[in-house]
Amino acid sequence: MEIIVVGAGIVGASTAYHLAAAGARVTLVDRADEGQATAAGAGIVCPWLSRGTDPARYRLASAGARYYPELVGRLNADGRSDTGYARTGALAVAGSAERVRESAERARRRRADEPEVGEVTVLDPGEARRLFPPLRDDWPAVHVTGAARVDGARLRDTMLAAAERRGTVRRSGSARVTVTEDGRWTVAVDGDAVPADAVVLAAGAWSAGVLASPATPLPVVPQRGQIVHLRLPGADTRRWPIVLPEGDHYMLAFDDSRIVVGATREHGTGFDHRVTAAGLREVLDEAISVAPGLADATVADIRVGFRPASLDERPLLGAVAGAPGLIVATGFGPTGLTMGPYAGAVAAELALGRTPELDLSPYDPSRVVEGRG
Ligand SMILES: Cc1cc2nc3c(=O)[nH]c(=O)nc-3n(C[C@H](O)[C@H](O)[C@H](O)COP(=O)(O)OP(=O)(O)OC[C@H]3O[C@@H](n4cnc5c(N)ncnc54)[C@H](O)[C@@H]3O)c2cc1C
Repeated sequence: MEIIVVGAGIVGASTAYHLAAAGARVTLVDRADEGQATAAGAGIVCPWLSRGTDPARYRLASAGARYYPELVGRLNADGRSDTGYARTGALAVAGSAERVRESAERARRRRADEPEVGEVTVLDPGEARRLFPPLRDDWPAVHVTGAARVDGARLRDTMLAAAERRGTVRRSGSARVTVTEDGRWTVAVDGDAVPADAVVLAAGAWSAGVLASPATPLPVVPQRGQIVHLRLPGADTRRWPIVLPEGDHYMLAFDDSRIVVGATREHGTGFDHRVTAAGLREVLDEAISVAPGLADATVADIRVGFRPASLDERPLLGAVAGAPGLIVATGFGPTGLTMGPYAGAVAAELALGRTPELDLSPYDPSRVVEGRG
């Protein structure tokens, strides 16, 4: 089978890897847009503390988090150890003990069905600070041991290398898919028609622009995120947990004394790939108010990425109705590094004509969506 994958972010890389592992002939097309979400993403893999209310969204995030150890095992068996994935645990911190208790109860309820949540422990401010020393000294926390972090760019590159090793051909260029009234479709890369039995559209925030067909508009828009990488020279950050305050901001540590703090969630910016004064101030103010010990850290990097936000905030994962072989895998928004590797495995199954275990009806890409643009 000849399959084209459009987009080489975490979703397209995973799709290509799983397809190549199943023996398909894959061409992976990518345009290297500035603001690829995977290159900017923080890397929190922890759905269990989320306060989100959409069960379908949660199901996919939880399946994604659960799939990580299996994927890492598969890559290791392929001789690839550089996955960027580590189980570090997470601290949900809050100014009130009652809010912390609520978080702990939510995580414990989820653990009843999902053992991967791990141990759930309420900590006093001093205990929380021992785990993440820059934290303020007056907030309690709940600690969840199952949380993990991933360096999305490293995992993407590892899956791409493994896919190439199994014959995937990479092509740089801009893909366009045209669907006719009778459901047939064609793919062109920079204007050249490319024959294929199936195509997987994993073009992130740019996905709506790939389908050149007014009959199948994809309800995906960019949501800009600005995120800052700090360094605390000399700090041994390897075992520091992810810190999740209430609200959208967070911080997480990587091995090289690096602490990533983020991020803005900006609608209506289009693909304006800039660091803004207000964005930077918001990210640093939020981080330092929760972890004053970061005030003296070095600013090492500032990244900007476009999350693929679906208009109803639910991912688009499945075959396009009436267009056999046309698969969509996008709209994973702020949790695409959590869902992406698993979603790629599901998209690969669909492209091979198989039926995945997961009930995909809530994620139907052909649904009509009304929401914020
Ligand atoms: C600041 C920030 C923080 C985040 N933090 C987290 C987090 O902690 N945890 C989490 O789970 N998720 C997080 N996310 C979300 C996550 O990063 C994204 O949801 C995920 O990376 C999306 O991956 P993707 O492969 O769908 O898209 P992308 O990574 O954006 O890749 C899409 C690719 O498609 C290519 N493309 C587009 N159009 C075409 C075309 N026509 N032809 C060829 N190629 C094309 C682009 O050039 C790009 O390379 C964060 C995102 C941001 C921005």
